[in-house]
Amino acid sequence: MSRYRLLAIVLLWFGVAAAFWHVLQDREQPLIRTRLLLGTVVEITVYDPHPQRYIEDVEAAFAEMASLQALTDGSRRDSDVAHLSESVGAVKVAPETLDILAEGVQVGQASGGAFDMTLGRLKALWGFGSAHPRRPSAEEIRAALVGTGPGMLVVDKGEVVKRSDARIDLGGIAKGYIIDRAVAVLEQAGVQCAAVNAGGDLRLIGRRAGPWRIGIRHPRQADALLATLVLPEPMAIVTSGDYERFFEQNGKRYHHLFDPDTGLPAERCQSVTVVSARAGLADALATAVFVLGPKAGLALLERYPRTWGLVVAADGSTLISPGLRERVAWP
Ligand code: ADP
Ligand code: MG
Repeated sequence: MSRYRLLAIVLLWFGVAAAFWHVLQDREQPLIRTRLLLGTVVEITVYDPHPQRYIEDVEAAFAEMASLQALTDGSRRDSDVAHLSESVGAVKVAPETLDILAEGVQVGQASGGAFDMTLGRLKALWGFGSAHPRRPSAEEIRAALVGTGPGMLVVDKGEVVKRSDARIDLGGIAKGYIIDRAVAVLEQAGVQCAAVNAGGDLRLIGRRAGPWRIGIRHPRQADALLATLVLPEPMAIVTSGDYERFFEQNGKRYHHLFDPDTGLPAERCQSVTVVSARAGLADALATAVFVLGPKAGLALLERYPRTWGLVVAADGSTLISPGLRERVAWP
């Protein structure tokens, strides 16, 4: 037998074994665990012929998420974010907080300031997350925007320098980063195929027998699907929408994604879904694209490798990155 034939037979058997593994994996009931975290329901699903062997690793992933939430939640007085909010100048923070800040500063610059982690005072003023959100006066908004802007945070050589007394808010990026850290815990434990889903923002690990199919919610019809993403490769999928947290006053909808230029809710989009390798980046980009609007937003995504967007504009029309077109099934 020639060497090539032998090689061909060996490769064929590898192929059969791999297919068999995938089928086995998909036949088995997955392990599903949920936890209330990050202000939502977090669900971890592990697909494996013997998924029960990963129960403790799933618990470890939840524990990692809880400890990172404690670090990044500005409403907790002992968090890194609270400490950072009260400081000016060079501030010592945990390496994870520094990672988040560095990514946020990069997206802040790339988006011309549309993504802005210094809007903590503005968010508190609008009262999102409190029992009584309200539309503030123009004067109050002006005051809350003093000292904000993407130049007010500088991350350099393992240190963060804050240039004003702005309050920091990582609400537009922390959840995605924390999903990434849970994924890292599972991957280190040897998990081959899984999903970490935090209230619809999610990241996938590995491949299944068929492609991953991820439903994207319609921004104006709560129970309807806008589209289904069909992804052969494991990606992160993060959505920012004006329907997630909002209140209505005098017939007008006010939501929690702010245009840093005006201090008012951004008006160009209804929802933005970003697909990228990492959830932290996708999270920040989804918020940035929402503020920038469909055209400038999708142009921003072009600057990142294998990063795509599905945008519902304010008028209800749908725009999509060219790279995502072949990965979408419409209902
Ligand atoms: P969630 O998935 O929790 O609804 P998003 O990723 O859609 O969050 O981001 C919304 C949150 O981002 C807001 O609640 C606020 O904390 C923060 N935020 C609002 N506007 C901006 C902005 N222009 N830049 C950065 N963060 C923002
Ligand atoms: Mg976001």
